[in-house]
Amino acid sequence: MARGYHMGHAQFRRYIDGQPRIKATDCKSLYNSDVGAQGYFTWPGGRQVYYKVRHAEGWDRVAEFSYKGVKTPAPILKTKQYLGERYWLVCGACLKRRTALYFNFYNQIICRECAGLHYACQSERPAVRIERKIRKKRLKLWGPGQSLLDSSQRYSKPKWKRWHTFEKEKQEVARLEYQWIEMLRESDFGLFF
Ligand SMILES: [Zn+2]
Repeated sequence: MARGYHMGHAQFRRYIDGQPRIKATDCKSLYNSDVGAQGYFTWPGGRQVYYKVRHAEGWDRVAEFSYKGVKTPAPILKTKQYLGERYWLVCGACLKRRTALYFNFYNQIICRECAGLHYACQSERPAVRIERKIRKKRLKLWGPGQSLLDSSQRYSKPKWKRWHTFEKEKQEVARLEYQWIEMLRESDFGLFF
């Protein structure tokens, strides 16, 4: 493929920076309000998105966003793990839990992945790398089947492991987990399960 093609293609990439978004943390009050509650979000540019709180089978609360006649339902989730109480928006297109949702070209409000948005700086990469490291270290110490939403700090020492080595490795995992959570707080790409 000619080099020029790639250069031309790059111009059509849409970047997240500056894109209007709805953050899951802003939906805390929606989660806690009654079914039928409605209102709107306003962006600095004056764009208004209406929402209505609905109930749907299998979800605690669903926010139905509406902009220019286009409706997008997005379930709101609350998790209570060692991260503390956290709110999430579920992307109606891929059903992954996200910390923010964006507009696509059709005025639907979905996740950055489904909306085809990219990070200009690719800042999500270090977090993905750390997540991989945590998973690898945890797998070695405690085996498969753990959720990264649970802190590993209460996990017990495997019988075959020396205390000294175990404590050292556990501390290393804790350090990585802390780093990872801090990155998640700053980002909007949600958790990869
Ligand atoms: Zn999605």
